[in-house]
Amino acid sequence: MADPTEADLSGIPAPQAPRSDPETIGGRKLKPSTLMMGHGFDPTLSEGSLKPPIFLTSTFVFPNAAAGKRHFEGVTGKRPGGAEGLVYSRFNGPNQEILEDRLAIWEEAEDALAFSSGMSAIATLFLSMVRPGDTIVHSGPLYAATETLIAKVLGRFGVHWLDFPAGATREEIDAVLAKAATGRVALIYLESPANPTNALVDIAAVAASRDAIFANAAEQPPIAIDNTFLGPLWQQPLRHGADIVVYSLTKYAGGHSDLVAGGLLGKKALIDTVRSMRNTIGTICDPNTAWMLLRSLETLELRMSRAGENAAKVCAFLRDHPKVERMGYLGFIEDARQKDIYDRHCTGAGSTFSLYLKGGEAEAFRFLDALRIAKLAVSLGGTETLASHPAGMTHLSVPDARKAALGITDNLVRISIGVEDADDLIADFDQALSAI
Ligand SMILES: *Cc1c(COP(=O)(O)O)cnc(C)c1O
Repeated sequence: MADPTEADLSGIPAPQAPRSDPETIGGRKLKPSTLMMGHGFDPTLSEGSLKPPIFLTSTFVFPNAAAGKRHFEGVTGKRPGGAEGLVYSRFNGPNQEILEDRLAIWEEAEDALAFSSGMSAIATLFLSMVRPGDTIVHSGPLYAATETLIAKVLGRFGVHWLDFPAGATREEIDAVLAKAATGRVALIYLESPANPTNALVDIAAVAASRDAIFANAAEQPPIAIDNTFLGPLWQQPLRHGADIVVYSLTKYAGGHSDLVAGGLLGKKALIDTVRSMRNTIGTICDPNTAWMLLRSLETLELRMSRAGENAAKVCAFLRDHPKVERMGYLGFIEDARQKDIYDRHCTGAGSTFSLYLKGGEAEAFRFLDALRIAKLAVSLGGTETLASHPAGMTHLSVPDARKAALGITDNLVRISIGVEDADDLIADFDQALSAI
């Protein structure tokens, strides 16, 4: 749509330069929570609609044949600078582009990509980077499906892996990277905090180790990190040396347990490599999901802040309860090294934690079955409080020895705190603990 005011003045329609909300006012850089309402969307291009319409189309009309050719020259690399504009919905769409612009803002990333799930984001990242014979070095443990993808799926295509424990020191990381560096390392892949141990990875130490070990190498492996548990509010890994940040947007970013999506943020050159793979295999999220995520991002800071405050109150109550053995909550770190990583990398303890009850599976099940407000479900980061039993659910297939090493015991309950009233939640946990 042409801007009607400009058209009235000159008699000819004004050019359609998108009019995004300002990013600064009087030299003041606006905060992400402000930019989430309008950034990247120009209402004048959509009949004045305050909110972006959902663009349900599979393809986009070229203004002329030369523009169509120009686009494909960009896609195929015949013209530097990459593709511009919208062509086909497997590649991108207006809703996804606004979402990507807004996702990037939270961590001041150069670029971002939206995906149909966290796992499709991770799979597309891997596929775009690895070749047969390469090694992926990763922190452990990882989200179970990510571990399966690396070890079992990529393993079938001749990709190797080496891991170090999430809490590893610089020396331990150096040792693993030096061993891997005898061949081509495609990617260093981290997850912090790790699920379900909540162990933190020293991102800065990994970056320093990578820079040292690969100082004279022809290419340095990029560092990617799954930031689903604390990002983007409480941990921003690009500031600590990571190159790519990975999200399951299904969790805190979506935040209402009503969609599945993923995201990648980071350096433009790396994101472009992944974009080519996403264009090829079509792992982009659909326009409706992108629109829902735009709505979610408007309240991201509100929701995460409230969930974090609620978790602090609930954990303070649980910690001293006689039926609680111990807690795995980032607000209560005792280990000095982990506390040091937390202080350098994190600005909040999140709202997902581990609760170890006194007893075993029977006690854990009695507690879970007695909960009235908290729902018994896997996943996390939603407006509602969820509780699950990793040993019997998400990690059931993990071998016993590995379970023991990870602290996945039968008395472990995983809890994700929502945005309900904190005292109501405490009343619920209190009565469920008495039911044990
Ligand atoms: C849920 C989750 C994933 C996978 O995301 P989906 O959106 O379910 O595909 C990856 N990593 C972490 C840490 C997760 O919690």
